[in-house]
Amino acid sequence: KTSNYDVVVIGAGGAGFSAAITARNAGANVVLLEKMPAVGGNSLISGAEMNVAKNWVQPKLGINDDSPELHAQDTFKGGDGKGDMKVINVMTHQALDAAKWCRDYLGVRFEDDNLFFFGGHSRKRALIPVGHTGTEFIAKFQAKADELGIPVITNMKAEELIKNKDGRVVGVKATMDGSEYTFNAKGGVVLATGGFGANPEMVKKYNPKIDERFKTTDAPGSTGEALYMAERAGAELVNMGYIQTYPICDPLSGAIELIADARFDGAIMLNQEGKRFVEELQRRDVLSEAILNQTGQYCWVLWNDNIGKISNTVKAHANEYEAFTKQGIMTTCDDLKCITDFTKIPFDQLQKTVKRVSDMAGKGNDKDFNHRAGLMDMQQGKYYVIKAVPSTHHTMGGVRINEKAEALTAEGKVIPGLWAAGEVTGVTHGTNRLGGNAYTDIIVFGRIAGEAAAKAAK
Ligand code: ADP
Repeated sequence: KTSNYDVVVIGAGGAGFSAAITARNAGANVVLLEKMPAVGGNSLISGAEMNVAKNWVQPKLGINDDSPELHAQDTFKGGDGKGDMKVINVMTHQALDAAKWCRDYLGVRFEDDNLFFFGGHSRKRALIPVGHTGTEFIAKFQAKADELGIPVITNMKAEELIKNKDGRVVGVKATMDGSEYTFNAKGGVVLATGGFGANPEMVKKYNPKIDERFKTTDAPGSTGEALYMAERAGAELVNMGYIQTYPICDPLSGAIELIADARFDGAIMLNQEGKRFVEELQRRDVLSEAILNQTGQYCWVLWNDNIGKISNTVKAHANEYEAFTKQGIMTTCDDLKCITDFTKIPFDQLQKTVKRVSDMAGKGNDKDFNHRAGLMDMQQGKYYVIKAVPSTHHTMGGVRINEKAEALTAEGKVIPGLWAAGEVTGVTHGTNRLGGNAYTDIIVFGRIAGEAAAKAAK
């Protein structure tokens, strides 16, 4: 079966929805293809915090010295200088506009008095969606797509990009239940198929160090075949070996423990001996490596109500609280003795560590690991503790794009008719994506790609 559109968007995560909605608003007849039975991808299960320098919450927290330039520098440095500064600058400079679009046009609700301070950032700058997950975004994306009459076809897997004799991408061959479908795209195709973190063979192929020990945090659709599809169409794949593990995950399923985000407000990480071993706000790669160097290759994340009343994660992630407690990897205690009973961490050392942390509370006082936000007083319960391991999380590599989200060949030539946005691309984050940058990336470049593909159809 063949159908004709101005723009075909592949992948219904945050990047794909942003592209499709923007293309539609630019006057294009657009379709969104999703291979899974449900939309959302990694964007749905993400914590969905979004880094935006100069956002509207910062002044309320007394942060008045942030800038897109600083955000760009942090991003570049956080990726060990392997990101493309031109692309990064577009992301950080358009972040505020993208966030306002989400808030004002899509109706995404953000917490208006709280921000996230992710590792590797020099300023607290991540907006937090209500509920602290991507559900808020994806629900609003889906509602807007419905309102605009954009067909979102699930169970439809893109298999091959179609090129005309001039080398322009003019459509997509796809399959559903073994039947073949052709989607012609007058303006072009936007590739928004996400990463390959849920494909262990592919992960190991590009980075042999990330082997069977790692589970994944990712949505089951993050298997990356579309990267090979882009490669067959002439796109260059870059930085494929840079694969991020998320340090704090469920040892059984591999899923992120969003409840342990109390870390961003002062929760500490302990090894089985009851000692801190790393600055808790370090980059994810540093944390993951540090955890794998501890006894048993896991750690414990510990916090008390003093921290919990700020981070609010037990309430915000009530479902996790229940599940992890039932599963036996998390517990709640009135005192440290009970934490010892559960974790088998030696009581003396636990007490010592908690006392030392409390003595060093406040910004600039952590003599051991230089906690950038400042440790918190942890002398009083209640206490919460959860066991955590690193798992495969984000694949930084992918299709090389330029600052217009155009896909490029190995010679640096634009592939006409092909745009890419989101985790499928490979030049924004360098070796290591900083927390809160995925949502900024997908929305900024999704919009750019959608707009450009729509224009090309005119
Ligand atoms: P991003 O954050 O970049 O938007 P996501 O993981 O949120 O990435 O979304 C990517 C979506 O693309 C997922 O829902 C995934 O199932 C879908 N997808 C991946 N490969 C294909 C494909 N070949 N055809 C259609 N959809 C795909």
